[in-house]
Amino acid sequence: MYLVRAEPMGDILLISHECPACNFNNKRSCRHVAIASEIYKRWQWWEPAKEIKTVTKRIVLQPDWEPVTLSVTMEEALRAVSVHAS
Ligand SMILES: [Zn+2]
Repeated sequence: MYLVRAEPMGDILLISHECPACNFNNKRSCRHVAIASEIYKRWQWWEPAKEIKTVTKRIVLQPDWEPVTLSVTMEEALRAVSVHAS
């Protein structure tokens, strides 16, 4: 399972993620990032569209993160984790 962290910062959605596919792709975003941003949009559907910025960073799950249960069809176990900017 690869974690994707989606962190809203104003009108930017900062997505931190790392997986073998990203590294293989020359650190370009992989489909996990695309899935995560799509999930975020569904989860926070009332928010205006954000600009997606991706950061290649290994994600360590934090206890205060909020797991988002996915209703989309997933090919693999993926969890989108969001931290509310306060
Ligand atoms: Zn990935």
